[in-house]
Amino acid sequence: MSEGSAPPLPQKLIPDPDGRNADFYRHAATGRLHLQQCSGCSHFYHPPRYLCRECGSDALAFVPVSGRGRVFSWTVTHRPVDAAWAREIPYATLVVAMDEGPRIVGALRGMDPEGLRLDLPVRAEIEVVTDDFARICFVPAPAA
Ligand SMILES: [Zn+2]
Repeated sequence: MSEGSAPPLPQKLIPDPDGRNADFYRHAATGRLHLQQCSGCSHFYHPPRYLCRECGSDALAFVPVSGRGRVFSWTVTHRPVDAAWAREIPYATLVVAMDEGPRIVGALRGMDPEGLRLDLPVRAEIEVVTDDFARICFVPAPAA
């Protein structure tokens, strides 16, 4: 390390989800976004659940989805709580209304947060971290 250079940043935390959340991230770690869908009535869910609130079925399976949605809300971080993210500030965390219905939280990629607007069309881009975990990211995408 040369004099005056910054110390290396710590590694980003890899979450260790459990239960149905672990199933969600394990499916995402295949490189494609999956959502839980009821086999009885086709309703989509996120976050994952044990029973369908529409028909009461427990036959909920993770299925690959389009990954397309629109920006519902967001926040921009200028001072990271975790120093491992310092290199990425300012960064935006989005709530995206997926075409299938559920809303999902993910990180903005591929554009400056200043350009965000409500209903901006985006598509999911999965950042596979381990066999069991992936970060959900969204990039701007023209509407289909
Ligand atoms: Zn159902």
